[in-house]
Amino acid sequence: RRIVAADLAAHPEGRWLDERTTTRLLSAYGVHVTESVTVDGPEAAAEATALTGLPAVLKATGPRLVHKSDVGGVRLGLRTPEQVRHAYREMSARLGPAMQGAIVQAMADEGTELIIGGVAHETFGPLIMVGLGGVATELLADRAFRVPPIDRTEAGRMIGELRCAPLLHGYRGRPEADLPSLADQIVRVGRLMDDQPDIAELDLNPVIVTPGGAVAVDARVRLA
Ligand code: ADP
Ligand code: MG
Repeated sequence: RRIVAADLAAHPEGRWLDERTTTRLLSAYGVHVTESVTVDGPEAAAEATALTGLPAVLKATGPRLVHKSDVGGVRLGLRTPEQVRHAYREMSARLGPAMQGAIVQAMADEGTELIIGGVAHETFGPLIMVGLGGVATELLADRAFRVPPIDRTEAGRMIGELRCAPLLHGYRGRPEADLPSLADQIVRVGRLMDDQPDIAELDLNPVIVTPGGAVAVDARVRLA
């Protein structure tokens, strides 16, 4: 609550939280977010791989860069510090002043990409959602909603309602996803939304679900 109050005091009109504040808020509720190192140039980006490890991911940041991959602002699978440095230079030349800096992350293990979301609905109050992520998100609209707070059993039912649920159960030789971890993450997002009336919108897209757990590699929170 202190994190949200401090941001509202500085920006009374509400806004998309910056990456650091978003991570602090989600971490306070035990929501797993990939660690991001904030950098302001190609050298710092290359050096950040000492913290994240390799292969690494580079993402452009700036208040106007909301859908980063739509503008070529995400580079995955960079294998050396030199590749990270080069990717930063290339991105910054192409995006110009819209790119104010970048974040460097470790590559997550391969898994199923889901979305966990939250919204303050004008009639129902806080709602949480889990759905299929990735490029087919909008197309298939495979989603389940609940009014939080919910427990793990109910989160498990939400997952079971998804048409994509078989993807999480080892469909066609895929690795079996860690469903208890995924359910736990949904419960935690529910607790956060239920607790924080100033959050207008929350979007973890994607949450990558693997046999080892569920982690968000992209997170956005908007205060109203
Ligand atoms: P945006 O949604 O703004 O375009 P994302 O941060 O969601 O940008 O990245 C786009 C896609 O890149 C994700 O949907 C995911 O498939 C992949 N991706 C992003 N970060 C990672 C990561 N750390 N590890 C593995 N894949 C990633
Ligand atoms: Mg995303």
